[in-house]
Amino acid sequence: MEMLNQAGPECLQCEEGCSKSRPPGCPHPCVLPCHPGECPPCVQMLRIKCHCKITSLYVECRKMTTADINEKNLLSCCKNQCPKELPCGHRCKEMCHPGECPFNCNQKVKLRCPCKRIKKELQCNKVRENQISIECDTTCKEMKRKASEIKEAEAKAALEEEKRRQQAELEAFENRLKGRRKKNKKRDEVAVELTLWQKYKYYLLPACAVVVVVFAWYIAHGVD
Ligand SMILES: [Zn+2]
Ligand SMILES: [Zn+2]
Ligand SMILES: [Zn+2]
Ligand SMILES: [Zn+2]
Ligand SMILES: [Zn+2]
Ligand SMILES: [Zn+2]
Ligand SMILES: [Zn+2]
Repeated sequence: MEMLNQAGPECLQCEEGCSKSRPPGCPHPCVLPCHPGECPPCVQMLRIKCHCKITSLYVECRKMTTADINEKNLLSCCKNQCPKELPCGHRCKEMCHPGECPFNCNQKVKLRCPCKRIKKELQCNKVRENQISIECDTTCKEMKRKASEIKEAEAKAALEEEKRRQQAELEAFENRLKGRRKKNKKRDEVAVELTLWQKYKYYLLPACAVVVVVFAWYIAHGVD
């Protein structure tokens, strides 16, 4: 009866542990010692990471090992929003899911025309698919024209102001110059007087001498 002591598929019952194969995915041993027939269902819990790898979930091992692929996906879902970012920059709106994020982003995107006047909300995927852009309309163009007119007027006013300022500066400068010329003129007149005397003093001096001599002679002969 030695053979009966070895637990194995042929063994009916002994003191050894159960050596029957476990359901795929169950890491737990059978709770029964070597026994005939089917193993009882596993009652242990399994700790698994959800699809998005953020949450640890505890599920009944038996449920997990008997589930088909859809049921398994459901059991591994943490029920939170997927944390991944889509290529468009928006966050995935799906609930925690296996595999790649579906890229059909229907979140709202605000689009503006080049001058930022017209605003439109569109679905992200529609904008991406159709390369939508918003053009400026006639109102935009009218407003742009008015704005440029105002700018032009402002520039013109600034130019005028600059011209006026320069003119005023020029006038002030000229006035200062005139004032200096007047002073110079006075000095020039004095100089002219001086030069006149200097120019004629050689004629005036002898003339004076003659007058003096004639006067002296007159006095002298007048006394006789
Ligand atoms: Zn046995
Ligand atoms: Zn198990
Ligand atoms: Zn068993
Ligand atoms: Zn998750
Ligand atoms: Zn998007
Ligand atoms: Zn996702
Ligand atoms: Zn515009």
